[in-house]
This record gives sequence, structure tokens and C-alpha cells, in this order.
Amino acid sequence: MQYYTEPISRLIEEFSKLPGIGKKTAQRLAFHVINMNNNDVEALSKAILDAKKEIKYCSICCNITDKDPCSMCSNPNRDSSVICVVEDPRDVAAMEKIREFKGQYHVLNGVISPMDGIGPDMINIKELIQRLGNQDVKEIIMATNPTIEGEATAMYIARLIKPMGIKVTRIAHGLPIGGDLEYADEVTISKALEGRREI
Ligand SMILES: [Zn+2]
Repeated sequence: MQYYTEPISRLIEEFSKLPGIGKKTAQRLAFHVINMNNNDVEALSKAILDAKKEIKYCSICCNITDKDPCSMCSNPNRDSSVICVVEDPRDVAAMEKIREFKGQYHVLNGVISPMDGIGPDMINIKELIQRLGNQDVKEIIMATNPTIEGEATAMYIARLIKPMGIKVTRIAHGLPIGGDLEYADEVTISKALEGRREI
């Protein structure tokens, strides 16, 4: 990358650290940025900094939020006796698209994956267990993705929670294997939720 002057090669370098951005795309983005007007460049860099500064994790559901507790945990119209457990914030957004689920969420921020060195204590499971001590919960819907790790995580959590006398269900497999919630269409998610079974 030496054939570019230092500030540009640095910008290319930074872009290429982003997921899904190869060297070529990084170069295209870098040259696009230097051709943008100053206001737009400032708006872009401010949006990045603000997002990083203002976004925090909800102390109840662990979802990303700008205020704590988040708007879903503090909404009195949502049913706090049903909690849908998902892998990450994008899954909450996917579930919300169907506008049918009126309970609350819990974001694990990952799945148990021994292959990647991720153990149960590295995702938000203890936060969920703690929450069950403070909140009167009747059903936990495990909506982790239908992958090996997602299934194993659902079973692990079910084993922890069932002795507490709380019903644990698993969303149905209208979702294709390896098909992440995030990419599923509304009808598929709606069917998966409707067809959930006790585990
Ligand atoms: Zn919350």
C-alpha cells in the first residue's frame, strides 16, 4: 500500500479491518471519502463516534440501547412474564419485524462454542438467571439459531432454568438449518414462534 500517500494508506488500512471489506473495497471507500465534501465526512465520523459513545447495554436484557433500561424493558405494555432469548441484537430486530411477540427479550451476545473457546460464562447466561430471580417469568422461549452451537446453548440454558419451575420452549424449525433468525422472512419467523415446543 506504499504507493499511496500515508493518510490514504492509513484510511485504506482502517477500512480493511471491517468485516466483509477486502483490500479493493477498502481502497474504493477511502477514495470515496476523500472526494466527499467536508460536511459529509464530518457527519460520517461523528455518527461513528456517537454510536460508539452513546450505545450501551441494557442492564436487564443486555440488548444495545441508548438509555438504561431499554425502551422494551421499560415498556409497561410488554409482557414481562415471557422472555425470548436470542443470540444478538439483530435477532431482536428480526423478531420485532413480525409485530406479534409482545414479551421481552434477553440477548446472549453469542452462543456457547467450545471450538471457538466460548464457554457459558462468556455470554449473558448469568444475567438471565439473575433476572429470573427478580422478575416473575412464566415462559422462556429459546430462539437461538438452528445451528449446532445454537441448539447446544438452548439445551444448556433449558437445563439450568427448568428446575426453577419455569416453562422453557424452543422455536419450531420452520427456520432452515443454519438459517439465522436475522435473515428469515416474517412469515417464517411467525410460524417458528407459533410452532414452539416445550423442551
Ligand atoms: Zn432491556
